[in-house]
Amino acid sequence: MTMDAIKPARRTERIQYAVRDVVLVARQAKAAGRELLYLNIGDPNQFDFVTPPHIVDAICRAMRDNHTGYAPSEGLPVALEAIRAQAARNGIRAVRDAFVGNGGSECIEICLSALADEGDDVLLPWPGYPLYSAVLNKLGVVENPYFLDESNGWQPDPADLEARLTPRTRALVIINPNNPTGSVCERRTLEALVEFAARHKLVILCDEIYDRLVLDDRLPHVSLASLTDEVPVLTFNGMSKAFLGPGLRMGWCVVSGPEQRVRPLVDAIHKFLRARLCANLPVQYGIVPALEGDQSHVATVVAKLRARRQITVEMLNAIPGVSCVAPAGAFYAFPRLEIEEPDEAWVKRLILETGVVVVHGSGFGQRPGTAHFRVVFLPPEETLRRAFAAIGDFMQQSRIARVS
Ligand code: PLP
Repeated sequence: MTMDAIKPARRTERIQYAVRDVVLVARQAKAAGRELLYLNIGDPNQFDFVTPPHIVDAICRAMRDNHTGYAPSEGLPVALEAIRAQAARNGIRAVRDAFVGNGGSECIEICLSALADEGDDVLLPWPGYPLYSAVLNKLGVVENPYFLDESNGWQPDPADLEARLTPRTRALVIINPNNPTGSVCERRTLEALVEFAARHKLVILCDEIYDRLVLDDRLPHVSLASLTDEVPVLTFNGMSKAFLGPGLRMGWCVVSGPEQRVRPLVDAIHKFLRARLCANLPVQYGIVPALEGDQSHVATVVAKLRARRQITVEMLNAIPGVSCVAPAGAFYAFPRLEIEEPDEAWVKRLILETGVVVVHGSGFGQRPGTAHFRVVFLPPEETLRRAFAAIGDFMQQSRIARVS
């Protein structure tokens, strides 16, 4: 570093976000003239999915009606009412608060900031969505990983959780359906997690942003907070996934649990909500139509995703050296690789040599000694077929190169 170069804060050294980091390698491949097949980002609108028009219309109308000022910090009252009504339909009884944020991401960051001190720890699923690690690292809160069990459809393993608990553990994060594995928690697993949290006085952060995108009829989505009035639960959802509007940046949180236990946390959350003024106002006018208007787009999305999941699982499992647990929800699969190099190096070679952009498993956390990659199966069937055929050829060539 030269004498007058600005020295960034030390906390930035711990921040990584693999999903966007691979984009730098993809740019390199593109500059070298490769056609890119993007299977790396969970954005439906990059493919053949559009935000339902009744949501878009409501937002446009709000802007034309001059609803472009500041909003109440916690959110527009009619939007919060709709969020509470949806929580009731999901079976959540002990609702104590609801608020909106600029994406589920902001709600998650505010809740963790309001809950945990430096040196506390939070149980995070591995594999799991890397936002949680990034936020904890920023706050100086310790990331305490628990492993999802690949041999059991990537379900959380309550025994593993028990072994990881420390005196400073404050909270348990559950992502259901999960990103990056696409797993959906069984009801009895959720019950065991609630019981674990109750016994150890933990707060549960339950990320249900993919709750409507369940692809396996045998695993209907159960909202974890519907199983308990006793354990404090922060349930996250938003417009990004099932409502096909990730760029709208609108998410929300429902706080449930015993009033006396959750009140101080709710008050602390509201300090942060006020400090950032408010969330995007016009988009809040899209929440009532999203939650209470026409839902027919969901069935269309789920039907497309089921067909794409089938191609993904069949083609990946046909490749020697690759095995893929069938995802039950969301639009991700997390296949395992038998390779002799770190998965990050494998992914980099894959992108540069084939143009297929996926994300290395180590970016989401995985058991030591295993290697995976995440694929997004949002692209149309033809793109998926080409991408998986290219991955098959790439694996075969790597094997030939190793043998010769
Ligand atoms: N939670 C999970 C599990 C996600 O996969 C994502 C985005 O991919 C988010 C939260 C971010 O949601 P938002 O776009 O509402 O900030």
